Amino acid sequence: NRMLKLSSNTYNDELLDETMVKTLERENATLLMLVRNWELPGALRSMRSLEDRFNKDFHYDWTFLNDVPFDSEFIEATTAMASGKTQYALIPAEDWNRPSWINETLFEEVLQLMEEKNILYGGSKSYRNMCRFNSGFFFRQKILDQYDYYFRVEPDVEYFCDFPYDPFKVMRLNNKKYGFTITMYEYEDTIPSLWETVEEYLEDTDYQDVDMENNAYGFVSNFDFFGKSFAVMDSSSDYNLCHFWTNFEIADLNFFRSERYIKFFEHLDSKGGFYYERWGDAPVHSIAVSLLLNKDEVIHFDELGYKHMPFGTCPSAYYMKLQERCLCDSNHPDNIDLNVISCLRRWWKDGSGKYFLKHDS
Ligand code: GDP
Ligand code: MN
Repeated sequence: NRMLKLSSNTYNDELLDETMVKTLERENATLLMLVRNWELPGALRSMRSLEDRFNKDFHYDWTFLNDVPFDSEFIEATTAMASGKTQYALIPAEDWNRPSWINETLFEEVLQLMEEKNILYGGSKSYRNMCRFNSGFFFRQKILDQYDYYFRVEPDVEYFCDFPYDPFKVMRLNNKKYGFTITMYEYEDTIPSLWETVEEYLEDTDYQDVDMENNAYGFVSNFDFFGKSFAVMDSSSDYNLCHFWTNFEIADLNFFRSERYIKFFEHLDSKGGFYYERWGDAPVHSIAVSLLLNKDEVIHFDELGYKHMPFGTCPSAYYMKLQERCLCDSNHPDNIDLNVISCLRRWWKDGSGKYFLKHDS
């Protein structure tokens, strides 16, 4: 406020002061990218887009994580691209590698089988490490201890519009713990036993961390008020396969650090499904968020146009798109919100898990 009062009437000074105010009022947050050295060009494209659309006025820190050391070219170029401070951390091997209790023979068999079935990343070992890391370990990295919020960024993504607000501030002021832009159905082949593992967790913990009256259970369940509802995608369990697309994610680190999330993760991890199947961090985060948080602690960032191949989302309000200088076409087939595989309708439609309880005989 003081800064605003001090501002003179000249246009440039006002702009400068507004930016200074934004910087001064920053939240305790970081932009976060897990990335490989060879992905530098894509990392820079994502950074350029997010800097232009949002961070150039705020100068939030950028944090980069990698399972091998970043090379000097990567560090130099990303530091040059950032408007804020940059920091780089090496992930400890025990947070990244396959645990020793994974049965190697079984694991190799699974890899081959999933490769033959042409399951996306089905034959990849490193992808599994990445998904397990993003499910259970990213928030435990020392370098993140100082922060409350993170904004996950991936290489080669694009933000279509100027941010009309600081999403971190929106989250804190409205008590939001998890924010998303895109939601869709998961490939069931990657998570055949995930849901039964979640159900086991619920029973083991006697539903004690789950508030079915207020959570978003209905978002991930095939059940609604009328019982088993019409499912857009066939699923063989009561999980409807809806998940938040976690390549975009703005969230409260303290949620993931919480005892209840860790307990949830440890239960899943102990079944080995990150390796024997190919559980993604997206369904894992999404199910945890839908069970453990209240639905009103989750925010859909409707105004933030975003693209990660092969899908994007583009705001549809004409005037807002002009105001935010959006570079996207909401009627284009790439806009996932129009596609049957989007779960947005499901998000809008249903609230808590209380309807499920009615049918849980
Ligand atoms: P997709 O979006 O599911 O197709 O998977 P990506 O290849 O984009 O990987 C997801 C995120 O994890 C991206 O930010 C990648 O840069 C990162 N990532 C994936 N595998 C590795 C890895 O082996 N090492 C590191 N350091 N990052 C990885
Ligand atoms: Mn990606």
